[in-house]
Amino acid sequence: MADDKVIEVRNLTKKFGDFTAVDHVSFDVFQGEIFGFLGANGAGKTTAMRMLCGLSIPTSGEGKVAGYDVYRQAEDIKRNIGYMSQRFSLYEDLRVYDNMKLFAGIYGVPRKEIPARIDEMLQRLGLSEIKYKMVGELPLGWKQRLAFSVAILHRPRVIFLDEPTGGVDPSTRRQFWEMIYEAADGGITIFVTTHYMDEAEYCNRVSMMVDGKIVALDSPKNLKAGYGLSSMSQVFDLIARGALRSE
Ligand code: ATP
Repeated sequence: MADDKVIEVRNLTKKFGDFTAVDHVSFDVFQGEIFGFLGANGAGKTTAMRMLCGLSIPTSGEGKVAGYDVYRQAEDIKRNIGYMSQRFSLYEDLRVYDNMKLFAGIYGVPRKEIPARIDEMLQRLGLSEIKYKMVGELPLGWKQRLAFSVAILHRPRVIFLDEPTGGVDPSTRRQFWEMIYEAADGGITIFVTTHYMDEAEYCNRVSMMVDGKIVALDSPKNLKAGYGLSSMSQVFDLIARGALRSE
């Protein structure tokens, strides 16, 4: 793994009035890494991720994404990242190809390059057979794959995935993760939140957030060894058990 930091965060903090949603978090994420950002409900993951995507200004601390500052260069950040939220915004009444074309334009892919880039992406991610299908007719797992492909079409340095596989079964999740590996192999950095512990096992490193603070950060292997446990699910249960905020 190249020693190239794509995300650098120091003491990043977000307050809503008196309430500290994200409390002095610090970490680095490296090029091509798959970084799992875990925490119980309400731990502060989405709030932290929104700051890193240039969608929310931090209260204090420092943050750089793809070399750009989260306070002063939010627009540059938005141009250099991909973002897929749980409520991804595909147009259900358009075909797959037309969705991709539309978003490629929005993300600023040069017009002449769009058709070739879409075909390459469809092929690489095993989506060619659905090229002319209406998005509304696709099962959820396919829509998630499509939303991912749309979010990397402009070749961002990093992609933020906020619970990208909600509501699908483990084998569909596994297929989604094959796509993630493929993107990471191509040098894209993956920053992913998830509630599924099988997915935590697939990450290179995982951070665990409790009540706004990062309380553990390491590879799944080291975390399990450190706590003397055999699965990430057990590690998560142990760490999140003390959370005050989790529902
Ligand atoms: P989940 O897994 O449930 O999405 P999360 O870890 O992403 O949880 P956040 O959505 O970041 O957690 O929320 C962290 C805390 O901050 C929660 O207690 C939430 O109620 C609070 N919060 C989030 N956004 C705001 C806001 N705009 N105003 C006030 N409080 C907020």
